[in-house]
Amino acid sequence: MTVHLLNCVSMKPPLLNWHVGGTCLLVEREEGWVMVDSGLGLQDHLSPSRTGRFLNQCFGVINAPQETAVRQAPRLGVAPEAVKHIVQTHLHFDHAGGLPDFPWAAVHVHRREFDTLAHPKKWIERYAHNLASFAHGPQWVLYEEAREKWFDFDAIRLPFNPAMFLVPLFGHTSGLCGVAIREGEGWYFQCADALPLNADFDFKPAWLMRWILGPHVPGLKVFSQAHPEIRMLSGHMLADRYPPVPSI
Ligand SMILES: [Zn+2]
Repeated sequence: MTVHLLNCVSMKPPLLNWHVGGTCLLVEREEGWVMVDSGLGLQDHLSPSRTGRFLNQCFGVINAPQETAVRQAPRLGVAPEAVKHIVQTHLHFDHAGGLPDFPWAAVHVHRREFDTLAHPKKWIERYAHNLASFAHGPQWVLYEEAREKWFDFDAIRLPFNPAMFLVPLFGHTSGLCGVAIREGEGWYFQCADALPLNADFDFKPAWLMRWILGPHVPGLKVFSQAHPEIRMLSGHMLADRYPPVPSI
């Protein structure tokens, strides 16, 4: 079962000389292709809403429709219609903008995160959602109780095989979840924006990371050191850390 790692958002944040990417995963399961986060979508590049234009400017988004998941998937041999499910770690514009390109897909997300659309609680929920990403009316599948365990974490088993789990890592947003993905004998653990750039646990300053990303970085560092076989991922990495995608 294949797992593709994609950069579906390129940004050069103002004042920083970094070319940063946004992580999406295309995961092959018995139930069809499952995408984890959807990056930016075609409308974010080609016809952005007012909010979209504002956010693109704030974060230095590079206009690159060819980087959307719907354009990259066919280059990996995955027809967009074969993407039956999308698991969202959270609903920020740079993670959920691709949803309108896959209107047929069921969208799996924690209920607490879904609730932030109508009732934002934190500053980062008030300003970093783009409601145009949801105007097409996604088929939401909501989860709440974490009744199972994935290693030491409370977790929610997703309805896919081989196994995938939602792992609540609330903090960056009220309902952000990591996603654990079985791959062969090991696992990917996409911690999204609960981890700093490049999943670098020691990214400084620590107080700023805690303010933006929430409280999980120290615990995830300990977990990662105890489980070197688990591939830890973050929502954003330097663009050259993503594997190249064939052009045709
Ligand atoms: Zn975020």
